[in-house]
Amino acid sequence: MAGFDETAQRLALVCSNVEAIRGRLRNAPAGDDTLLEEVLTAARGGGEIAGPVDVLHAVLQALGDAQGLYAYSPQRRPPDRGVHPAGTDRKRPAEPVYVCPDTRCARFWWPDGPAPVPRCAISGDALRRNRL
Ligand SMILES: [Zn+2]
Repeated sequence: MAGFDETAQRLALVCSNVEAIRGRLRNAPAGDDTLLEEVLTAARGGGEIAGPVDVLHAVLQALGDAQGLYAYSPQRRPPDRGVHPAGTDRKRPAEPVYVCPDTRCARFWWPDGPAPVPRCAISGDALRRNRL
């Protein structure tokens, strides 16, 4: 069974990719997304989620996605290319980051141009702004 942190990470993958995962389950032979709803319902109700998340992960693996939920891990941010003169700070200070309003979910999101702030699949609330 996954520990708390790992469960929060897995929940974050579910939260960020809920529609992709739903589509994957619906296209599977069983053709239903009950497992996904069980995870979301458990998370919303403050119930035990490590078990349902484990089951979802195993089912995705059984469908042929060897990485299970981790197949939905975000791509790493592209490496910062280019030459930076010595002494300049290439990282903007206090870059805003958005996190899930529900502390059970470890999702975070960086502003992406004009893209609207996404909503947490668990609480339905917009991600809230935080600072690193
Ligand atoms: Zn979330």
